[in-house]
Amino acid sequence: MPERKQFRAIKGTRDILPPDSALWNWFEQTARDVFESYNFGEVRLPMFEETELFARSIGVETDVVSKEMYTFEDRGNIHVGFPETIEEVLVSNEAVQAAWQAGRIPHTMDNELRVNLIGHACGSISEEGAPALLRFISALHALDLGDSLTLRPEATASVCRAYIEHNLQALPGNAKLYYIGPMFRRERPQKGRYRQFYQIGAEVLGASDAPAIDAELLEMLLVFFHRVGLRRTTLYINSIGDKNCRPAYVELLRAELQKVKDRLGPDSQRRIETNPLRVLDSKIPEEQPIIEKLPRISGHLCDDCRAHFSKLKDELNLRGIEYVENWRLVRGLDYYTRTTFEVTAAGLGSQNAVCGGGRYDGLVELLGGPPTKGIGFAIGTDRSILSIEEGGNAPKLAGLAVYVAWMGPAAYPAAVRITRKLREAGLTVELPPEEMKFKKSLGLADKLGARYALIIGEDEVASASYTLKNLADAEQRKLSENDLLEYLESERRGSRA
Ligand code: AMP
Repeated sequence: MPERKQFRAIKGTRDILPPDSALWNWFEQTARDVFESYNFGEVRLPMFEETELFARSIGVETDVVSKEMYTFEDRGNIHVGFPETIEEVLVSNEAVQAAWQAGRIPHTMDNELRVNLIGHACGSISEEGAPALLRFISALHALDLGDSLTLRPEATASVCRAYIEHNLQALPGNAKLYYIGPMFRRERPQKGRYRQFYQIGAEVLGASDAPAIDAELLEMLLVFFHRVGLRRTTLYINSIGDKNCRPAYVELLRAELQKVKDRLGPDSQRRIETNPLRVLDSKIPEEQPIIEKLPRISGHLCDDCRAHFSKLKDELNLRGIEYVENWRLVRGLDYYTRTTFEVTAAGLGSQNAVCGGGRYDGLVELLGGPPTKGIGFAIGTDRSILSIEEGGNAPKLAGLAVYVAWMGPAAYPAAVRITRKLREAGLTVELPPEEMKFKKSLGLADKLGARYALIIGEDEVASASYTLKNLADAEQRKLSENDLLEYLESERRGSRA
């Protein structure tokens, strides 16, 4: 007997089943509606990219790139076929050709192949020849010819890559794009933190970095949060300067951190060298009084950055958006400049950030594109939904409207016909595939949470009049097929069915 292994979802991943998935769909659909009202269009991106894209944009010193990426070697472009000639192997296969030219295919192997290929071409391949050829092909596979790929840990880098690849700067106005989908990071799973998690993000890329762009993006975000019932949120904002003023501040911070190094934990000590700004992210209680005394970026912004930040606050005030300035909000990824922001929500414990974002002027250029300004955010769907549920604000989504309780062979064709009509009218209808006693049928309708049971027996078919039972109050009414349709449709419009 083979071992009966129980397969389970990989740690940090999970299944989202009905009825939760309906809540997720509603959440994502609301994002689409709100974002599209701000004239954003959806971009559907690949789930994996070249590793270097993330390393270059997010930064090799960040936790995401240094510890958390799901990276794998692609298998390259080698075909496991039985080539007719050596030229076929070389010419048809760029990866092999490149390896050949770079001297990565051992010469002896080349001879072995040549002998056997020629033998094969002459129709005289020996019995020993075939395994030698197969050995060669598997040796080609073992050579490291594949690309290094990574499951996306975030999507801003991909959006920038797509912006460059499709020359979107040539389009009129700013590129305003949103995306919805899973991201992958090998973090330690806990409540609100998964290895496959979901984000909804929006990005604005183009020639302008007007603070009104930042403010409108934040307005859109908060309108969305309000629409989905994510209340008790706080918006934190900061400016972390740009390439003109940040380097001097980072050096100053590094120098100040050196003075207090002995009082910091190992992570912060390491970051003094690698990324001093990240020390400001520290949540370690003993480090807090030390960090509070460090020089603040707001005192070291250049005139342009200070003006940009001040205008952003004017723009937020104009829109009636409340915010809290937080000088320690530097965000974990390297590419941010000027505006950074985060939204936290109640009911989530330590993992309470539901959205993060900021400006990334220069990222497109770093990835080989034209000079471009950019800003964006990513909402964590998992946590947002948790917070909505914990706040008791999850909407009651229309579930099963009608359960068709039919009995008797003559009732079945009528049940099939009426079910289809009700579904066409937009109702959710369950039709049991096998005949059941009415009592059992009605019991199941109740358990499934149907709002109505439609009773179709042979008598009903004979009189062309059907019994509709409201399962909440047990009220029954007899209706003709047309009246039934009309009644249920009007109930649905009144959002009761
Ligand atoms: P980031 O891309 O790190 O700025 O994250 C943006 C948002 O995505 C965060 O505010 C979280 O809501 C969410 N998020 C990030 N990492 C995870 C994770 N491992 N599990 C669940 N949500 C996450």
